[in-house]
Amino acid sequence: MQTENSKTFERRSCPVVKECGGCQIQHLSYQKQIEMKQKQVETLLNKFCKVKDIIAMDYPYYYRNKIHATFDTDRKGKAISGIYQAGTHKVVSVDSCLLHDQRADNIIVSIREMLRSFKIRTYNEDTRNGLLRHVLIRTGYNSKQIMVVLVLASHVFPSRKNFIKALMKKHPEITTVVLNVNNKKTSMVLGQREQVLYGKGFIEDTLCEKVFRISPKSFYQVNPVQTDLLYNKAIELASFQGNETIIDAYCGIGTIGLIASDHVKKVIGVELNRDAVKDAINNAKRNNVKNVYFHNEDAGDFMIKMAREKQSVDAVIMDPPRAGSTEAFLRALTSINPKKVVYISCNPVTLKRDLESLVKKGYQVQRIVPVDMFPGTSHVECIALMSRTDK
Ligand code: SAH
Repeated sequence: MQTENSKTFERRSCPVVKECGGCQIQHLSYQKQIEMKQKQVETLLNKFCKVKDIIAMDYPYYYRNKIHATFDTDRKGKAISGIYQAGTHKVVSVDSCLLHDQRADNIIVSIREMLRSFKIRTYNEDTRNGLLRHVLIRTGYNSKQIMVVLVLASHVFPSRKNFIKALMKKHPEITTVVLNVNNKKTSMVLGQREQVLYGKGFIEDTLCEKVFRISPKSFYQVNPVQTDLLYNKAIELASFQGNETIIDAYCGIGTIGLIASDHVKKVIGVELNRDAVKDAINNAKRNNVKNVYFHNEDAGDFMIKMAREKQSVDAVIMDPPRAGSTEAFLRALTSINPKKVVYISCNPVTLKRDLESLVKKGYQVQRIVPVDMFPGTSHVECIALMSRTDK
């Protein structure tokens, strides 16, 4: 298999690739990486139908729109910032990561350089002293907006005004700054408490011609270039006629459902995370979409309820987390009896398990398309289209 663009860019290497461990296959050429992913998906899923060629990325670097740096101090007492070594709490110093939006990495370096003059100490996980724990940055690929979230161990942030002023002077491209307080002994990055220090407290970005609001905690796909291709492909595979009622299960902030809303009569979105559903409702308003209804519920419970009420839908789009769906969800899905199921998965192993279950329940896998959402890493996304076999 060949990708058209695989030879048109200069290959880059990372000096800490081994120490960091975040990029499991960065040592391979991009061509080799996608061949490996293609093979992995084929080995698992070819038994259902012949897997299509992977949708590779034109330029497989600097794609991440969500960047998280942890702050610490080295043995000489100097502030460092970077990435946790895979599986540990040791911070590997990284100034420029091959996956990160470079605008974000530049801001992180600036923040680190400002710490001394503002007498801000980095947080120590063992002694629980110090202030700055993490910096989270979210960037809008199309909108160019940038949100900086300063995660501090305390809400007491001396000279915060001057700090923000100095940061904005260095980086006028930043559109909002949020203070997040995390004073717990936890490996979670963000704490509960938030305060907007500058701007609106969220960014917006355009995806498949719709605008989405992204808050510090919202789930949003991290590779905007490939997400555009992924969602367009999913909708193309569904080949909607315009009069369908569909379910967008595990809908997050409503992205897929809102994008699909132009192509169908009605979309019913279901999502467990309350904040995400709030964002989804806002996103519907923001885009003036009137045929989408969001429910804040466990997707399995929701499907069971729909099945019990003998409601039917024409298609289900589902995009569960890595663990995949549940047997209860899949059983209820077959009672609702959609003609088509479009399954978007970030884990081909659980996708295989769930496809096997749906095949036993009377569905046939029509198409499987892998998409490389995470170049440099071993993760691979897939879209599977299934249709009901009419007995
Ligand atoms: N489709 C969205 C989000 C996919 S991520 C997008 O592409 O942006 C998976 C989503 O499933 C997350 O938002 C997570 O909160 C949600 N989720 C996890 N378990 C769930 C459950 N049992 N019921 C409903 N939603 C769930």
